[in-house]
Amino acid sequence: MNWLAGRVIENRHWTDALFSLRVEGVGLSFEAGQFVRIALDIDGERVARPFSMVNAPDDPVLEFYGIVVPEGPLSPRLAQLKAGDALHVAPNPAGFLVLSELPDAESLWLMSTGTGIAPFISILRAGAVWKRFRNVVLVHGVRHARELVYQEELKSFRSLRYVPFVTRETAPRVLQGRIPAALRDGRLEAAAGLPIAPESSQIMLCGNPEMLKDTQAVLIERGLRKHRRRAPGQITVESFW
Ligand code: NAP
Repeated sequence: MNWLAGRVIENRHWTDALFSLRVEGVGLSFEAGQFVRIALDIDGERVARPFSMVNAPDDPVLEFYGIVVPEGPLSPRLAQLKAGDALHVAPNPAGFLVLSELPDAESLWLMSTGTGIAPFISILRAGAVWKRFRNVVLVHGVRHARELVYQEELKSFRSLRYVPFVTRETAPRVLQGRIPAALRDGRLEAAAGLPIAPESSQIMLCGNPEMLKDTQAVLIERGLRKHRRRAPGQITVESFW
């Protein structure tokens, strides 16, 4: 594979474990919501993992949002990168968590936990979403309020209905608990000020595999079904790890 040579221009640390890397020098053609493999050479071997682009496709600076998996080979090293360091980027972005795959609807719900928010920020930044959907909701579930990253930017999207959740503490203006439970008992829709229904809603899910499973189960009980090209539905999912 012809890896592309990127150079880190910024590594922002949100917490000890959460970081956002900005990388220049790589011309990559992709659709908002897609991911690409990024890599470092470690002990003579190129170690790569998929990361979603956080930047909009027309931004030449790539951005990746990650968490340190302490026992993992790559993420602790990515977290330590500094401006000027090299980062290899694969030339072939991929993934179907993209607006072009989605049927039209009145409302788009982007539901994420943890680093699963990354592709949704790219979709919001890209801009086409605001013309395509009358209502756009971003749901982000994390353990602690300090992990509610990119909040200032999210609040600057004037049409966005942003619904943050924390599970391991209470925090002001944030829902407490897990996303599927709040979907089941109505708190999620109340917070967004919008109902979820098969006729009006498209749902994109990204994050913790258990959250994806549990949220889909509630949505299916509510009459929504998985979206496929040949059998259009309302639920589109990207598993992150
Ligand atoms: P997380 O543990 O998945 O937690 C994020 C949020 O998802 C938490 O609020 C958690 O709630 C919630 N959640 C978990 N299971 C759920 C379910 N069934 N339904 C609804 N919500 C659910 O992710 P994180 O805090 O971003 O990362 C923690 C660890 O995950 C990392 O240290 C790492 O080991 C692993 N991780 C690995 C990768 C990878 O690529 N290998 C990527 C990201 C994260 P609770 O607090 O109630 O559990």
